[in-house]
Amino acid sequence: MKNKLILILASVLIIGQSCKNTSKETGVQKSYFDVSGMDTSISPGDNFYEYVNGTWLKGAKIPDDQSAWGSFYTLYEENLSKLRGILEESASAKVEKGSLEQKVGDYYASGMDTLTIEKIGAEPLKPVLEQINAVKNHNELVKLIAELYARGEAYEIGFYVGADDKNSNQNIAVLYQNGLSLPEKDYYTRKDSATEAARNALVQNAITMFTLSGENEEAAKRYAQQVLALETEIAKHHRSPVELRNPQTNYNKMSMAQLQKLSPGIDWKLVFDIMKVKTDSINVAQPAYYEGLSKLLVSKPIDVWKTKLKYDYISSNANLLSKAFRDANFEFDRIFSGQKSDSKRWKKMVGRVDRGLGELLGQLYVKKYFNDTAKKRMDELVKNLQVAFEKRISALAWMSTETKTKAITKLNTFTKKIGYPEKWKSYDDVAIDRNNFFENAMSVRAHDYKEMIDKVGKPVDKSEWGMSPPTVNAYYNPSYNEIVFPAGILQFPFFDANADDAINYGAIGMVIGHEMTHGFDDQGSQYDEKGNMVNWWTKEDGEKFKEKTTGLVDLYNSYTILDGLHVKGDLTLGENIADIGGLAIAYDAFKMTKQGQDTIKIDGFTPDQRFFLGYAQVWRMKSRDESLRSRITTDPHSPEMFRVNGPASNFDPFYAAFNVKESHKMYIAPEKRAKIW
Ligand SMILES: [Zn+2]
Repeated sequence: MKNKLILILASVLIIGQSCKNTSKETGVQKSYFDVSGMDTSISPGDNFYEYVNGTWLKGAKIPDDQSAWGSFYTLYEENLSKLRGILEESASAKVEKGSLEQKVGDYYASGMDTLTIEKIGAEPLKPVLEQINAVKNHNELVKLIAELYARGEAYEIGFYVGADDKNSNQNIAVLYQNGLSLPEKDYYTRKDSATEAARNALVQNAITMFTLSGENEEAAKRYAQQVLALETEIAKHHRSPVELRNPQTNYNKMSMAQLQKLSPGIDWKLVFDIMKVKTDSINVAQPAYYEGLSKLLVSKPIDVWKTKLKYDYISSNANLLSKAFRDANFEFDRIFSGQKSDSKRWKKMVGRVDRGLGELLGQLYVKKYFNDTAKKRMDELVKNLQVAFEKRISALAWMSTETKTKAITKLNTFTKKIGYPEKWKSYDDVAIDRNNFFENAMSVRAHDYKEMIDKVGKPVDKSEWGMSPPTVNAYYNPSYNEIVFPAGILQFPFFDANADDAINYGAIGMVIGHEMTHGFDDQGSQYDEKGNMVNWWTKEDGEKFKEKTTGLVDLYNSYTILDGLHVKGDLTLGENIADIGGLAIAYDAFKMTKQGQDTIKIDGFTPDQRFFLGYAQVWRMKSRDESLRSRITTDPHSPEMFRVNGPASNFDPFYAAFNVKESHKMYIAPEKRAKIW
């Protein structure tokens, strides 16, 4: 299910990362910067990312069960171990039925009970597969899709409830495109060998899923081809990841009558009755998808649709089943991740409990691992960044006073969420039984659906969080005009209460600045301080902003990875604006500290140099080719090397700190450097 637009810091984390023995970076904690990871044979002005991380990059071994390895991953791993401790403790403690410890502990334990899961095999799928078999016509199919949806199983239709982009205090129901098993539409048509391999993997996955569910091999092969053929048709009605970044074209509020007229092949009254959606207007984010789906539902044979729905149902639930099912999904996923082996069961279960019961597990996590000192230091950092950002806006040469005033109002209206929510979500309707993993997962899913559907037409609760407290990530949400930093990311190497300011401002400071700048990137800038999609720019300033971002698209288009694969400057534009702005704001805030005004060296580096070193250290990452290849088509974040070198090469103080000259490869002439925020 596609979620409401929120702009996250990094989308690199695939659940189930690992390996303790590879990269326990001894010595790092002491000086908070890993000098031994540098490659000083490279000039900082030629490739700053490799200068800071080169030796580490050469030596680092990506664990077999990982798609990449680096700062995010090591912290994520440490967090997994902490959460595992909490879950094992909860599972073995004598606790009251229905208590939060019982729910998280027993959910975890039920998933760890692979003997029972193995014994049950494909059994849990049978009731729904029989329902699909009994379908006789398109109306019954649509009805079943709606029934499954009401249990939290999202197939063909994509639906969520979130703040109305043009009335941000009110929730609205949204229809989103859905129905594909590959990452995006181009995967169905591109002719290169990596994409062909992805399509083959989909077919193979479908064959295995059908066979494991009792079909003979010949039928399974035929069905698998039908799934690929139908998805290829569906993909034609999809928008691309770049098109999905435009909030204007993805806002199409209409009446139920208009929706019915747009997609007559779907009986929406019936669908929404079953899904318990009570509303008279809806945002159809991608109308062409529903127009196309409606036609396909009628024009394609019912047996083909039943096959597709079966595949969706089996493959979506395969991870809840026996090893043969799980292995099949791993074989498919590794095409995109490059992982050599599947991650351990306990890691997957920790991830599952965190995703499903995040604010229960989160309560135990923050009690044990988050303290007030960290929160206080973060409050201070965020405040300083805000002051620095305001100064930067005031000093912008290209913007009129009129737009500046609006921008500063928006900046000072930011809601700041740090650590964990003030009030916790309730999971009263979730029933967890230690002996029934599959049903537990269904109960969590039904809860998520109910929580969502209860919001339709109601006021938005802006105190809600979009990430669980242990998450190693951060986000900006334009509808809430808020920046959010879960407890999980407020740890070394992003943040340490004992580290010097240079390191903290370069690392978490840049992260804070990045999220703040999202409020003013090519998407965020279209929302006002109340979270409404309202144009607050003067015409002239809007045009100048557009011109500046176009230059940035060209710059990032010129970056390549692997065998000459280009970064997509348009897909990554918002993140690149946030990276460049984030670095500048963090630097200015750092210069307001005592150390920022000092010249005392640590490990031979000036405070300014340490600021940039701390920054580049946070982004060090070694990725598998498969992972890079799939990220470049779908991930709005640039590869890590460019998240460092892109912003640095556009920032004057970097040139001064490392004496970068025209002869250096990263050099950009001063008048050509991107100075947006
Ligand atoms: Zn971001």
